[in-house]
Amino acid sequence: MADNLQSNSTINAPAKRSVSDYQFCNKIGEGSYSTVVAAVDIHSKKTYAVKILSKRHIVKENKVKYVNIEKVTLHRLGQQHPGIVQLYYTFQDDNSLFFVLDFAEYGELLSIIRKYGSLSENLSRFYMCQIIDSVRFIHSKGIIHRDLKPENILVGYDFNLKITDFGAAKLLDVASDKALQEPDYDKLTMDSNVENNDRKGSFVGTAEYVPPELLKYNICGFEADVWALGCILYQLFHGNPPFKGSTEYLTFEKIIHLNYSYNANSPIPNDVRHIIDRILVNDPKKRYKISDVMTSKWFESVDWDDKNSIWSKKVP
Ligand code: ATP
Repeated sequence: MADNLQSNSTINAPAKRSVSDYQFCNKIGEGSYSTVVAAVDIHSKKTYAVKILSKRHIVKENKVKYVNIEKVTLHRLGQQHPGIVQLYYTFQDDNSLFFVLDFAEYGELLSIIRKYGSLSENLSRFYMCQIIDSVRFIHSKGIIHRDLKPENILVGYDFNLKITDFGAAKLLDVASDKALQEPDYDKLTMDSNVENNDRKGSFVGTAEYVPPELLKYNICGFEADVWALGCILYQLFHGNPPFKGSTEYLTFEKIIHLNYSYNANSPIPNDVRHIIDRILVNDPKKRYKISDVMTSKWFESVDWDDKNSIWSKKVP
């Protein structure tokens, strides 16, 4: 069973791990084919989030490919960026696969947005800087996340953010892991045009954050992640994403017709609207690129090279 599932491995670590190296504590959450549990490494006493995937369930639900994509993507991203949940070890027993990940104590960014209704302008800018810095890094490794949303952005013990859930990611061939400082969006969009046949008729990602080109032409490039950034920016201020219908179909209709509006009760600053309006455009080629977002007026006080301030321990 599960022959295609990649076998035990350690990432950037010499020793092999197994279940006996961890003391499993409380359940953190559940996904459609996984359970996430807090677990203490009995050697280092450090707490991790261990994602446990039932082999039988993964095979039955045809999810082997996505589990492997998640693992390979996290491996490619390595342990180099503070804004990405790190994968430390993978191992398995007869029934399950185990992914040992950074533990994000405060859970999903979505819970924080829901708790407070919306975030302040300062905190929104601070968090957008972290998300943009992380997404730039992901893109520089030839990876399109394709499912960016506040549920997939976790909040660590120090309130800094970490992007997770790479099961829907698209990995482009890169000759080496050498960073593409500014991805060639045109080229990469073409390269990533073709979806696998097994996904034809379905879509990658989550309805509310899916870009129009994916719905209309089944195209999904780096611009799809930028579209999601626009939706997230809107949501930080308004609490809900810009396109939300009572059914998935009505959500798609709204996206295709760019049917979104601003809520007068929680006004969004003009400089923020400017960014959102230039991201939420139909044609991915006319959409703002990440570099356009970074140089826009709302971010003019940000020094993008100053990683210490972007990843500050002092979250506003
Ligand atoms: P689905 O697979 O259906 O898309 P999911 O992506 O939320 O769901 P998991 O990644 O298994 O599924 O996560 C399950 C729950 O555990 C989620 O609520 C998530 O926020 C939480 N979680 C996942 N990884 C971590 C982590 N590293 N630290 C803290 N909480 C986590």
